[in-house]
Amino acid sequence: MALIVQKFGGSSVANAERVMNVANIVTDTYKKGNDVIVIVSAQGDTTDELIAKAKEINPNPSKREMDVLISSGEQVSIALLAMAIEKLGYPVVSLLGWQAGFNTNSTYGSARIKKIHTERMHNELGRKNIVIVAGFQGICKYDDITTLGRGGSDSSAVAIAAAMHADRCQIFTDVEGVYTADPRKISNAKKLDEITYDEMLELATLGAQVLNNRSVEIAKKYNVELEVLSSLTKAPGTIVKEAAKMEKMFIRGVTKDSNVARISIVGLPDVPGIAFKIFSKLAAKKINVDIILQSVGRDGTKDIAFTVSKDNAGETVALFEGTDVPKGAKLECDTDVAKISVVGAGMESHPGTAATMFEALYNEDINIQMIATSEIKISVLINKDDADKAVAAVHAAFFPEE
Ligand code: ASP
Ligand code: MG
Repeated sequence: MALIVQKFGGSSVANAERVMNVANIVTDTYKKGNDVIVIVSAQGDTTDELIAKAKEINPNPSKREMDVLISSGEQVSIALLAMAIEKLGYPVVSLLGWQAGFNTNSTYGSARIKKIHTERMHNELGRKNIVIVAGFQGICKYDDITTLGRGGSDSSAVAIAAAMHADRCQIFTDVEGVYTADPRKISNAKKLDEITYDEMLELATLGAQVLNNRSVEIAKKYNVELEVLSSLTKAPGTIVKEAAKMEKMFIRGVTKDSNVARISIVGLPDVPGIAFKIFSKLAAKKINVDIILQSVGRDGTKDIAFTVSKDNAGETVALFEGTDVPKGAKLECDTDVAKISVVGAGMESHPGTAATMFEALYNEDINIQMIATSEIKISVLINKDDADKAVAAVHAAFFPEE
């Protein structure tokens, strides 16, 4: 007998038929003698719809009330799934985040899990119940409902698996696993059998939509092996773990992220401390900066360009408006950009990865605006209209049609 954690995303519970399908997967696992804890997201696009409803009434609602609202989607899912399991004749109980013991900090809208008090879940499993837990939510020290940030149910699942010392953590989704590129767009995208935490973290952060990046951080920290698989087919999925076999490939995937904006400050004085001034202002507002480029400008000045997520673009521009851009310097914000990345631990030992990527872009006449690298990734910033073409060309360069 094992303890198995199963997480189902919004598309896997989108309607009554899909909820019944999930109930079957869960009870099949339970029937084999396992303890089962299930984490579910809100049905389909519910969370987006709730956000739209809020904006109709108040474009600037408080984050606290936003969390009260958007956490409700998961409450619907857990009840419906529990009812489906009741219908199949199995013992089941649904729990909201706070009932399952999820304690978070009080950063409404993007709360961090601090501790999971597992007694209730242990008790329910002891009573032989299948336990269904609402993903994406917890409670803070003020006894307020918090949410974990978009896509946060993955983190809920991985955190439960860690806290409960689960034997397996399965993340069910609407694709069969982690692919070398978005399989809906790239026809010969290949499903990976295995991938390391670090590679998965890069892919998740750089735009692959299959796992939330925070959940991969938690998995790595607590060494929770993840299995990403489809709720709709029975195919084997992708295992995410510490060390993965390399197979023949040294690149694991090509991603696109359109949620980026490029901010350039042109004509800055070329003196020490300028970069510090700019980036400490961003840090104070907790705005994450990704690619940074400093270059020599005209007449002894310098230019600094960097990228932020599109959601932070407005705030970033506002931050530097008025007195904070030094005299003579000019700030520009470009949101018509996309970041294309290749990820793979194997590139450390394979020279020429960057050249292969840049050649593929050159062959398509795509201009590179910025470049950033780490040991296991290369990212370029390009015009967003070229993004899909770029992914296809780069993917084809690393994964030629067989
Ligand atoms: N329902 C939430 C969202 O759409 C959480 C999740 O799906 O993981 O972001
Ligand atoms: Mg969702």
